Amino acid sequence: MSRIDPTAFQRVKEAVDISEVARHFGLEPDRRGWCCCPFHGEKTPSFHLYQQRYHCFGCDAHGDVMDLVAALLDVPLLEAAKEINEVFHLGIDLGAPADPVAVAMAEAERERKRQFQAWRKDALLVLTRRFRALWLMVKVGGALAVPGSIPDTYANALREIETIGYYLDLLTFEEDEALWEAMPAINGAVGRAKEEKCDVKKPEKGHGQAAG
Ligand SMILES: [Zn+2]
Repeated sequence: MSRIDPTAFQRVKEAVDISEVARHFGLEPDRRGWCCCPFHGEKTPSFHLYQQRYHCFGCDAHGDVMDLVAALLDVPLLEAAKEINEVFHLGIDLGAPADPVAVAMAEAERERKRQFQAWRKDALLVLTRRFRALWLMVKVGGALAVPGSIPDTYANALREIETIGYYLDLLTFEEDEALWEAMPAINGAVGRAKEEKCDVKKPEKGHGQAAG
């Protein structure tokens, strides 16, 4: 039997998303990564998926993606690695030293995923801040507005809130593929939000409110 490439397990783990793998094997984590534990009977989810690992707060089962598949299928780690490799078409050679081309491609893919996640996180952060600032602006603007007249800043803020709210939905709930299409538009919004100082602009005071 050929030797296992010592880096192969690591490459298998890094090449997949544990949530995706969990779903493939029948788990149904919610948006926050919680689901009922497959290893002990329960009706209230205490099984949690993290970025790379899982942990059950009920039965203390925990591990990485390969431990998960090995436990779910009740097979040794090597079998779990082979299964993940096959199901997710990773093309990782588990029985021989790594093929440099395949390694380079896998690394490029990992890097692409890493950059994508970093982009997503940054966009979420920037747009969430902008969203909050706009809400504040609208609340203050609404409180100070003269009845019957809507200041431009107020109307613009409302429009921007709608757009940014939509992008935040995409960033939070959409799969990667769907997000790719929206990326240029989201980048535009992120760029504009970064240019804004996000400070609260109070509308001009009306004539009847001269400072006393
Ligand atoms: Zn459990």
